[in-house]
Amino acid sequence: MNSPGDSESPGESSPGGFSAVGNAPWGIIHNGIDFLPAKNLTAFRSVSTGVVSDISMWKNDISLKWQVNVRIRFNSTYTLEYIFETFSANQADGQGQLSYLNISVGKTLLSGDPIGQLFTAGAGSHLHLMLWKDGTATFPDGYFSQEARSSVLNLIHLTYPNCALCY
Ligand SMILES: [Zn+2]
Repeated sequence: MNSPGDSESPGESSPGGFSAVGNAPWGIIHNGIDFLPAKNLTAFRSVSTGVVSDISMWKNDISLKWQVNVRIRFNSTYTLEYIFETFSANQADGQGQLSYLNISVGKTLLSGDPIGQLFTAGAGSHLHLMLWKDGTATFPDGYFSQEARSSVLNLIHLTYPNCALCY
């Protein structure tokens, strides 16, 4: 996998990596990697070749905020999920996020192709990137290219110096 964003954008950071356990530096079990852009409408890209299998806008039952989930099927084993979390309780902002996506179900994406821009409607809005393997959220370390891995780790280190990518 490549990096999902232009990770060197000034001020972009990551508030958390992947953790199957609660005693990670970010303090929670977290089934993906977060990307918190410095500015509104930051573009995110496909990290690998795949086919868009689902796009859904919904109100998160726990946070009560609107989000758009995009699934990209890599093969019969692996699916990537991009969750554009607006951090807004307004449905119109969920619709806004949907309108900033450049994809439709069935579209084939190559690595690096644009998926859409994150609409930072509320404070803390970010992209949550997950890797599913046979339906289970999977430890993504080892799937990134060397360059992408160090770029993602550098982002996380802005918030948690010296931490690992996954726990
Ligand atoms: Zn997250």
